[in-house]
Amino acid sequence: MSAKIIDGKALAAKVKETVRAEAEALPRKPGLAVVLVGDNPASRVYVTSKRKDCEECGFYSEEYALPAQTTQAELLSLVDKLNGREDIDGILVQLPLPQGLDEKQVLLAIDPAKDVDCFHPFNVGQLTIGDPVFQPCTPGGVMEMLREYGINPAGKRCVVLGRSNIVGKPMGLLLLHANGTVVTCHSKTPDMAALAASADILVSAVGKRGLVTGDMVKEGAVVIDVAMNRNDAGKLCGDVCYEAAAEKASYITPVPGGVGPMTRAMLMKNTLTAAKLHQGQ
Ligand code: NAP
Repeated sequence: MSAKIIDGKALAAKVKETVRAEAEALPRKPGLAVVLVGDNPASRVYVTSKRKDCEECGFYSEEYALPAQTTQAELLSLVDKLNGREDIDGILVQLPLPQGLDEKQVLLAIDPAKDVDCFHPFNVGQLTIGDPVFQPCTPGGVMEMLREYGINPAGKRCVVLGRSNIVGKPMGLLLLHANGTVVTCHSKTPDMAALAASADILVSAVGKRGLVTGDMVKEGAVVIDVAMNRNDAGKLCGDVCYEAAAEKASYITPVPGGVGPMTRAMLMKNTLTAAKLHQGQ
């Protein structure tokens, strides 16, 4: 079998176009505030792309680039100010924060109605009970991809590699709510290769290139590679040995051009959801 490629870039453009059209119909532009502390170069790239996405979707956006020496009190005071702003619908504090700042406390301080990253325990709870206000961006983007390509997780064996709060856990929950039978693997899972090889839908979110070899992919499986690693030449790559997996899979996501663009598009979708909520639409 030779896999069909799930084109995340094209789908993300389609999602953003829909978001733009819906945003135009609102009385007020959706507004997103992005807070960056310190000068992590990767975070800077993410912030720049979020600004671009906001422009494409016709959103109002603000960026706060704070020095690495920013205190917890200063950061909390900014979040508090943004919580109170009527023109700001979404607040995103770029992680990781520099050492010395308490990430948990900062995420707790964000108004859950503006928590477009879906990291606040209130929103995580809503997601767990199957009644989410916001979709966690990366797993939400994966679900959009499955929907677009007519892949229904119901009754399928779904194996998720990774159990982080950002990707692995919420991914498992979304697949479970879609009636998949979910197995979550992590660094202490024995015989992960055999579990992966039993998957109808295999999602890898570990961050180790070459982790998923061809023999870990069942004939006809759907393979979703969430990871973003660098190869020896410095090029972006995922966890999956792409060529070998593509020979056996029915569908596969490329890296780059797969899950990454969908994560960004879902942030725009969540900001639109927040704006609708705040404008009673
Ligand atoms: P993370 O917090 O480091 O979590 C990695 C997970 O992988 C952990 O649960 C860890 O297990 C597990 N793991 C580590 N080694 C393993 C092994 N040998 N076998 C099985 N599981 C193993 O990372 P993350 O934030 O979830 O991100 C994962 C990857 O996705 C990274 O490459 C990241 O860059 C990428 N990512 C991409 C997007 C996107 O938009 N495409 C968004 C977010 C993240 P333990 O819990 O036992 O330590």
